[in-house]
Amino acid sequence: MNAITLDNISRDYGSGLFGVRDVSLTIGEGEFMVLLGPSGCGKSTTLRMIAGLEEITAGRIRIGARDVTELPPRDRNVAVVFQSYALYPHMSVRENMRFGMKMRGTPIVEQDRRIAEAAAILGLAPYLDRKPGALSGGQRQRVALGRAMVREPDVFLMDEPLSNLDAKLRGEMRQELVKLHRRLGKTMVFVTHDHVEAMTMGDRICIMRDGHIEQVGAPLEVYANPANTFVAQFLASPAMNLIPASLSGGASGLSITAGPVSGPLPAAQAKLYARAAAEPATLGLRAEDILTAPKPGTLPVTGTVVMREALGAENLIGIETAEGLALSARTERHFLPALGDRITLHADMTQMHLFRAADGAAWQRRD
Ligand code: ADP
Ligand code: MG
Repeated sequence: MNAITLDNISRDYGSGLFGVRDVSLTIGEGEFMVLLGPSGCGKSTTLRMIAGLEEITAGRIRIGARDVTELPPRDRNVAVVFQSYALYPHMSVRENMRFGMKMRGTPIVEQDRRIAEAAAILGLAPYLDRKPGALSGGQRQRVALGRAMVREPDVFLMDEPLSNLDAKLRGEMRQELVKLHRRLGKTMVFVTHDHVEAMTMGDRICIMRDGHIEQVGAPLEVYANPANTFVAQFLASPAMNLIPASLSGGASGLSITAGPVSGPLPAAQAKLYARAAAEPATLGLRAEDILTAPKPGTLPVTGTVVMREALGAENLIGIETAEGLALSARTERHFLPALGDRITLHADMTQMHLFRAADGAAWQRRD
């Protein structure tokens, strides 16, 4: 039993400063949960409260059936992996992994067995006698993971563990961690500000802002149905295009006016958003839903090319419209206009999102 339940937990730093405020979240047994959000939103504080490294000023935390709220870190049976690795520089890889077990009085034969097993899984066997200084960043990261694994914890907590690695290695370690999770079957909580890590690694992601949770769900589910404009923008790069909009008409036919995007909505969207006609709204269009050719359900959008990034497999094109709006489009690689060109792209309204202008909440979620 190693599910984690956060029950209205807060970390109050006093004088109205909260690291985390009234957060409730259930992380399933064996689940890989990603805490995602911008710097300062409370990810590390939440993780540290689960680990017992941070005071919980209100609420309760349970791991499995145990209420661990008052337990010291060592009694929670969790292992933490930090961004900094926190290895002992004067100890070999083997001794780094052994240290915690020695402190806890694990029998030496068992220590050796766990070290050998972790080293085999992580590909560290050839390096067991080296000091951390003689290892690459990726190898050090594996040692930090190995040190967590030999504890055989109920729960792994990881705070931006890949942030110090270069892009290529980060991509490889993402996949390795996913495999490791599958192999160990343990509950893992992984903190990151990188939406790609969240999308590719999480069974579910929990998106935070200003010390609270904005949305929790499976990555593709959240990507397809962001609860609000914050989530919509944070979960993609380039961020979702947002345009002030108003709708007019009714169930028999609905039209949108959103800066350069203006015209009738496809039937399905007209039905979905019929009730939205009364209030100011925000139209959301993902960069991949602004197309280079028209098709049923698209509306034209014209602008001047102000940015172009040819990425090889695809291009990112930025246009500025007559209204002064900047929009980004992800296009196929052969579509590569020059800076300053005036072009017409096609907004795929069958993929549109609509938010309430007042608070940014998605229309579908509104009560
Ligand atoms: P994240 O990991 O998402 O970047 P943190 O959990 O580290 O964010 O911090 C959350 C918030 O708590 C931040 O606004 C931070 O400034 C605040 N905070 C962290 N530690 C303290 C402290 N000791 N005193 C006051 N505020 C703090
Ligand atoms: Mg942090």
